[in-house]
Amino acid sequence: MSGTVLVTGGSGYIAGFTIRQLVAEGWTVRTTIRSLAKEQHVRDILSVDNSKLSFFAADLMDDAGWAEAMAGCTHVAHLASPLPSASPKNEDDLIGPARDGALRALRFAKEAGVQRVVMTSSMAAIGYGVDRGEYTFDESRWTDLSHPDVYPYVKSKTISERAARDWMDANGGDMEYCSINPSMVLGPVLSSDFSTSLEAVKKLMDGSFPGSPDLGFCVVDVRDVADLHVRALTAPDMDGERFFAAGKFFKMHDIAMLLKERLGDEARKVPSRKLPDWVMRLVSIWDPVARQVKSELGKVRHADASHAREVLGWQTRNEEETIIDTARSLIDNGIV
Ligand code: NAP
Repeated sequence: MSGTVLVTGGSGYIAGFTIRQLVAEGWTVRTTIRSLAKEQHVRDILSVDNSKLSFFAADLMDDAGWAEAMAGCTHVAHLASPLPSASPKNEDDLIGPARDGALRALRFAKEAGVQRVVMTSSMAAIGYGVDRGEYTFDESRWTDLSHPDVYPYVKSKTISERAARDWMDANGGDMEYCSINPSMVLGPVLSSDFSTSLEAVKKLMDGSFPGSPDLGFCVVDVRDVADLHVRALTAPDMDGERFFAAGKFFKMHDIAMLLKERLGDEARKVPSRKLPDWVMRLVSIWDPVARQVKSELGKVRHADASHAREVLGWQTRNEEETIIDTARSLIDNGIV
């Protein structure tokens, strides 16, 4: 199947791989970026058949450009949403663009007669707002926003997915909506301008950490996340669906040990020690990134992604290989 699809946020990490796969599968792809001044840079990075890809300027917080970008599209993959490494002073700076941008994308899609919108939500909308402990989640769960540990990014993804689903219930009509909820996305980088999700591996590799904090996450490969978006755009009867895009859980220390074992001298700055929680708490006094994640210390969250495998035939790479590909790509691009 192919047609004309709008991928929002074409400068983004997951969007880049999604656009590549869509073009390779014969789709005509449109994409939004905040400013067309970035178009040539993004084209150079994506290096796809340029005749199949066009750019439109649109910001999540402004109506300008969205109608033109959507005109003639049958499908939309809405990926644009802020993903900062640290929380802003005012959480509305994050929640606003995530929620209002999702609603804006849905409203303009509906007006343009789009058949289906696939929105990139997150594991942040499923598995957060829990006490320290070990859990396994599937798509039936929602993050508990009343829990004191939820930080602004987690709120932004939960609130925006909820708002999108509520909007669809009230206004969606024949238009279909489903969400893809990725965990921590790793994999090769497309350029030296890479997503926040690769920061943990970068910081292990470049020696920023004296030890590995007791933090962990489910790893998923960017190429597999892109593939799941394409599957969700094309499979029949997707309305209301929610798909976990998540693989095996790793603690940072496990990742550090894997990097050391597989990369030898190239991973010489990767720490062998574990960082005690009290050090993270101390560092969080001045470091905004540590402040954001300190409430996640000691939490183990597994993801049951069998729904995507069963319904969409989704297959994933080995997570250890994804971690190694991430590190090698950071080295090859001169980032570490
Ligand atoms: P990314 O590389 O940072 O891409 C984010 C995209 O959103 C960029 O294109 C960015 O544009 C755009 N954006 C941000 N604020 C915007 C605004 N106000 N108006 C228009 N565009 C705006 O991140 P990513 O990893 O590809 O993430 C893509 C999606 O996946 C996001 O919805 C994210 O929440 C979700 N997700 C990511 C992960 C992960 O581990 N990476 C996990 C779960 C879910 P600029 O280039 O102009 O900043």
